[in-house]
Amino acid sequence: MRSYRVDLHVHIGRNSRGEQVKVTGARDLTLENIARRARTSAGLEIVGIIDCASPRVIRDILELLDSGHMTELEGGGLWYSSPEGGGSTVIAGVELEAELPGGCTAHYLCYLPTVAAVREFSREVAKHMTNVHLSTQRVHLSPRDLASLAHSLHGLFVPAHVFTPHKGVIGGCVPRLAQAMGSDGLDLVDGVELGLSADTYMADTIAELSRYTFLSNSDAHSLPRLGREFNVITAEAPSFNELAMALRRQEGRRVTANYGLDPKLGKYHLTGCDSCGARFSLPPDAARVCPACSSTRIVVGVADRLAAIADSPTPHSPPHRPKYHYQVPLQFIPGLGPARIAVLVKAFGSELSALHDAPEPELAAVVGERIAGLIMQARSGMLQLDAGGGGQYGRVSLED
Ligand SMILES: [Zn+2]
Ligand SMILES: [Zn+2]
Repeated sequence: MRSYRVDLHVHIGRNSRGEQVKVTGARDLTLENIARRARTSAGLEIVGIIDCASPRVIRDILELLDSGHMTELEGGGLWYSSPEGGGSTVIAGVELEAELPGGCTAHYLCYLPTVAAVREFSREVAKHMTNVHLSTQRVHLSPRDLASLAHSLHGLFVPAHVFTPHKGVIGGCVPRLAQAMGSDGLDLVDGVELGLSADTYMADTIAELSRYTFLSNSDAHSLPRLGREFNVITAEAPSFNELAMALRRQEGRRVTANYGLDPKLGKYHLTGCDSCGARFSLPPDAARVCPACSSTRIVVGVADRLAAIADSPTPHSPPHRPKYHYQVPLQFIPGLGPARIAVLVKAFGSELSALHDAPEPELAAVVGERIAGLIMQARSGMLQLDAGGGGQYGRVSLED
């Protein structure tokens, strides 16, 4: 067995013909660019692309299979051979907005083992939605229906960014998964995605979640954001079946580490005011008004939501829970733009190795002592952060 770096939430902007898949996604965020960049720049061995129900994306997959750039793995998943040598495994997935009986909608992820299963899934969900070509569309199915459909095709079901006020099932709809899935539907959940504004320790204040493997994924809408959160799994091979076993912690396979943003850097950590932009913390029993401008147009942050609904104020992590490592992605380091990041990737092989492994003197030789110092502080969790909220990312603070 060995370790693999895995990011299971990456969007597609356009297909290879330039047709839109995710309207807010970058133009160069194509299936092939993601597969190629996953390994060579971001340092990921497995990447989950979650707009694969779109017929525009399915056509790209079929063309890559035809040309021999991609092959279906025996254990499920798609192997992409990079022109630079090596390659990465693509796990085909789908993010959809499903609705609860009361009408509240949230995002859910399904992952499928084969291209045949992806096509079947796409045909089925297309009957319940307006536009299957675009990313993360509303489907007139319940999350439970979606989970059953994924499982009927030997797929996996994972509620996405569960705590976010924007389309997270626990953050925006119901305080417990059992209310969304039905108590006998909890077995249909294969893992829980934490989202950028929460970490393991915040999530482990809810007892219902302790049975699940947590996933820290990037939710990337552009190539530089690949791997800004990722998971390390221990498995025999980079295949779909091995990933499924890791999520279910079977036969020694498991997620052995989560790497994610400090939740303070997430867009929804603090409560934010839509009217004046103020960010603040709102005690559970306080009125939902902005302390700065008295507006009631506020977005309750993940920290405040969890404080209000938690079973206990402190986390109770189960023995299987791996460590959550905080990382400040290079894009957040003040003074590091795309050009210097490219230089770091060239020097150290990937953004992740520059961020986590490169020795300080070698970093300094490439980007200077000041930035090398900031990267070292990021690595040890010593950077001061201004918390994000209300849809604005947090920032590295350079003031004392
Ligand atoms: Zn989403
Ligand atoms: Zn306000």
